[in-house]
Amino acid sequence: MRKKIVAGNWKMNKNFEDGLKLATEVVNIAAAEVTNDVSIVLCTPFIHLAAVSKIAEGSPKVSTGAQNIYTKESGAYTGEISIDMVKSVGTKYVIIGHSERREYFNETNAQLAEKLNLILKNGLTPIFCCGETLAQREKGIHIDFVKAQLSESLFHLSDEDFAKVVVAYEPIWAIGTGVTATSAQAQDMHAELRKYLASKYGKVGENTSILYGGSAKPSNAKELFACPDIDGGLIGGASLVARDFIDISKAF
Ligand code: PEP
Repeated sequence: MRKKIVAGNWKMNKNFEDGLKLATEVVNIAAAEVTNDVSIVLCTPFIHLAAVSKIAEGSPKVSTGAQNIYTKESGAYTGEISIDMVKSVGTKYVIIGHSERREYFNETNAQLAEKLNLILKNGLTPIFCCGETLAQREKGIHIDFVKAQLSESLFHLSDEDFAKVVVAYEPIWAIGTGVTATSAQAQDMHAELRKYLASKYGKVGENTSILYGGSAKPSNAKELFACPDIDGGLIGGASLVARDFIDISKAF
């Protein structure tokens, strides 16, 4: 069964106090208002994760996610955060391959494959991001580009492991720009990706949850989530306001 997920990517926003306030609001409003079968994930900065995981503890709807992990399990890697660290505070999900990390930190498909292996080995759920630039879309190479991101980072996985992966399609030209892909553009790409995943993993590929990300907001979430191949959203800016984020979560 394809799981419905709305994940908020706070990025490098909210100090500790403001982050805890936001998380408390989300958990409380979700408890009062969210009655559908969506799973809500708060992907906070690392420093907030332990406290936000505590706030979400016991919530049937809300859990937490990291925005990244390092490629190694432990050791002399000053400033890095391991999968065991995020797991040990109750985090359930890890975003990997966000376009900002690919662009500003030169993350490669091969490194992402290493991170993915660590996440799965530790029993957490990876949210694997992929997506094309505007120039790639205008050249008509966007579908092949995104397929290569998927195959180079994911296709070494067994069926059993692949079944645990969540994919987030995020066209880079729509992230943080206010420009949302039309629901038709998003649906077309999601359908292509699902077909591609099914060609490799059969039923397991067909059942992959594929989230859309890129300027999703309460006003467009209903239309996006009504598309047959869109299983939820990875939400940046709108996840920083509890009311907006919850309204998106209620849009199924
Ligand atoms: C994101 O960064 O994952 C994202 C989708 O951001 P925004 O919603 O702000 O476009």
